[in-house]
Amino acid sequence: MTESSLVISESTPAEAFGKLSHPVRVEILQTLATLETPCSFGELRSASSIDDPGQFNYHIRTLDGTFVNNTDEGYALSVAGHRLVGAVRSGVATERFEANQFSLGGSCHSCDGTLVASFDDRTIEVVCDDCTAVHTEASLPPGSLVGSSPDSVATTIDRWCKRMMADAEHGICPNCSDDLNRRVVIPADKDAPDWLTGDELEATVLYNCEHCGERFQSVLQYALLTHPAVISTYYEVGIDLRDRLNWEIPGIDPTSADVVATDPLAVAVPFTINGIRYQFVVNRSLKLLETRSG
Ligand SMILES: [Zn+2]
Ligand SMILES: [Zn+2]
Repeated sequence: MTESSLVISESTPAEAFGKLSHPVRVEILQTLATLETPCSFGELRSASSIDDPGQFNYHIRTLDGTFVNNTDEGYALSVAGHRLVGAVRSGVATERFEANQFSLGGSCHSCDGTLVASFDDRTIEVVCDDCTAVHTEASLPPGSLVGSSPDSVATTIDRWCKRMMADAEHGICPNCSDDLNRRVVIPADKDAPDWLTGDELEATVLYNCEHCGERFQSVLQYALLTHPAVISTYYEVGIDLRDRLNWEIPGIDPTSADVVATDPLAVAVPFTINGIRYQFVVNRSLKLLETRSG
């Protein structure tokens, strides 16, 4: 089987998304997501706000085969329809965060100061109110916080970040599901971002997807929290990383990493676990080269 035979293009993006150009069609998809499917034409129409059967029939025929599957059993969302409803529900195109800041509880790794969640319209940062260190920055969709209480915000931000890192560990772009590149970058690299050369970090991890342009970065410690060597070292002393907010995991100083060789690159990433200082030495692609302890 050749690579080109795996995927066949059925339409252009403009043709497919052009089918959503009438508000009734988006409503039909949202309605289908709430029904037991496959459902009949009558069930679908009576659950929607369109009275005219002819109009309704026209709109659903437009969606059929792309966002809706119409079989002998009735109507249901297609895979594309489910994804579209997910995008609608996430609020990414229709909602924004209200600019806000509130205390999260917990304390800063660097100075023991108070951590706050700081919102602008599109991102949330977990920052230290005292030393201003940024512990986490997340571009989670606003819909993920609809109905959340301030108490649950920390968990929501954390699980979003954990999910991003889990995707990255498997080389999957969290935005488009294509391949995600991941590499360790130091300030001396020709293509190091400007902010890194002016930062106190010795190294960072950059992620990018050439397919959709997704880009993000992580300190090395957080990037290594998906590595089995780190997970098991914590687990052996009774700490299940799944139960801890990333910024509350003991033994992490996110600003600390030592470049031990540059050609090829090797970076020692320290963790202090149960009083023992470990250094996980990784290469450019975050592969573990060596574990030092003591
Ligand atoms: Zn601080
Ligand atoms: Zn992508």
